[in-house]
Amino acid sequence: MTTVWIYVHTNKEVGDRDHLKVFGNPDAADEWFKDNDPEGVAFGYEVLGDETRPRSYCPACGALIDMRDLSQILAHVHDT
Ligand SMILES: [Zn+2]
Repeated sequence: MTTVWIYVHTNKEVGDRDHLKVFGNPDAADEWFKDNDPEGVAFGYEVLGDETRPRSYCPACGALIDMRDLSQILAHVHDT
């Protein structure tokens, strides 16, 4: 799954393009905080609908298999 880090600029108005800052990784957030808000904290959120996750549905039975886990793949074998 993919996680993004979100910081809320509480002294900006909702809808202001600077109200929310979204970072793709903690390092990017740290860089930004160093320059813009040394006291700031970003919170991690899971990205929903992330199609890049390495999971596949078995074409035979429809079970969801995690393709990163070799033991799951090997354990999931159909005889036909
Ligand atoms: Zn299957």
